[in-house]
Amino acid sequence: MNNEETYVDYLIIGGGIAAGNAVAGIREEDKAGTIGIISADVDKPYERPALSKKLWTDDSFTEDQIFYNVSEEHQAALMLETEATSINRQEHTVTTNKGDTVKYKKLLIVTGGIPKTIEGPEDDRVYAFRSYRDYKKLRNLSGDNQHIAVVGGSYIGTELAANLALNNTRVTLIYPQSTLGNNRFPEEIAAEYEQTYKDHGIKMISGTRAESYSKDGDEFVLALNNGETVRADSIILGLGVSPVLDLAKEAGLDVDNGVVVDEYLRTSDPDIYAAGDIASYPDPILGRQRIEHVDHARNSGTAVGKVMAGINHPYDYTPYFYSMVFDISWKAIGTLDPSLDVLIDEVDGGKVVYYLKDDKPVGILTWKIEPDLDQVRHLLDNPPASSEHLVGAIRSQEN
Ligand SMILES: Cc1cc2nc3c(=O)[nH]c(=O)nc-3n(C[C@H](O)[C@H](O)[C@H](O)COP(=O)(O)OP(=O)(O)OC[C@H]3O[C@@H](n4cnc5c(N)ncnc54)[C@H](O)[C@@H]3O)c2cc1C
Repeated sequence: MNNEETYVDYLIIGGGIAAGNAVAGIREEDKAGTIGIISADVDKPYERPALSKKLWTDDSFTEDQIFYNVSEEHQAALMLETEATSINRQEHTVTTNKGDTVKYKKLLIVTGGIPKTIEGPEDDRVYAFRSYRDYKKLRNLSGDNQHIAVVGGSYIGTELAANLALNNTRVTLIYPQSTLGNNRFPEEIAAEYEQTYKDHGIKMISGTRAESYSKDGDEFVLALNNGETVRADSIILGLGVSPVLDLAKEAGLDVDNGVVVDEYLRTSDPDIYAAGDIASYPDPILGRQRIEHVDHARNSGTAVGKVMAGINHPYDYTPYFYSMVFDISWKAIGTLDPSLDVLIDEVDGGKVVYYLKDDKPVGILTWKIEPDLDQVRHLLDNPPASSEHLVGAIRSQEN
């Protein structure tokens, strides 16, 4: 794909998790069609969750296990460190920032999210954590009792804070929730969650946002919205991502809070598809959703690959999301909104939380148990007549 104009049967913009799985999906159905991937990344596609979890906690899990070998196994041509800059739908072409034009038969947009940051001077020791390179850098910045300020109380912040603390690093965690996780979990679970961090020696600064940072000698100084400051050797930001929608918008595709697709993950242009973090898709149980989670990226990626290769099967999978920190493992499907009525069922040494609207579950959280996720999906899809019957409905598979 180094010529000025190239043709591929399947062109993928974005080289992340959905892309890695889409290539495998295409190849399940089409062994011969040509595949091209335009990726802004420096590395071939890889799994991101391990960057904040397994690579810190499981010595037997090695870095080479995170990669999708899209070229080696599936003969996809990979253009790394290359950005797609525009799509010409009439001509069926995509232009890159290197001046190349690639013609496609079918196009998949899987541009994922771009992490949010705060104001401050650019420095190698302050960054929003998203990539394999970020993981490698953090390995060098952590350990040896160095002090890292982690900003953000969602996945990245909580997982990295926990795993840095387990890896000989002093950690201060700054987060906006009044109790860690109480934007998702009922207060009693959030209190247990937060206490676990305190028990591991992490300094917790709740109800607070970091607004900007500056450098003072060898240290960084974080300015908080309560007027206080935190000094640290490095700062890691986990402030969430914004979906990368500009290419789709500029190409005139239907976009709401994501790129609008039908149940086949097809956009308003029949030759262009979208999946993963950027897709706004009709979930068969939950209704229209845009989901920034790996289970969705993997499954929508595989599904869209097969559809592009001619299999007329809708994406009918309802994804779950999860996290693991210290001895806590939680999983969930649907809406985790603690302002709804909640029913907390204590089972098998853990808990199941049902988030209710009109007495019907719209979200289910399992806490420290290993549920059968298909059973969780079934309950959301076929709720009992009264929420009383939810008690005991989900148990740990380990019992
Ligand atoms: C550290 C970390 C841990 C996570 N852990 C979990 C977890 O435990 N559970 C969970 O459910 N989810 C987790 N996630 C979220 C999950 O990884 C994402 O939902 C998933 O990566 C989305 O896949 P995607 O393919 O849509 O986007 P991405 O994987 O973000 O890939 C997007 C790709 O598009 C490229 N790109 C963007 N614009 C362009 C352009 N114009 N031209 C070319 N390329 C472009 C990017 O460089 C990137 O390669 C985690 C994320 C991170 C960062």
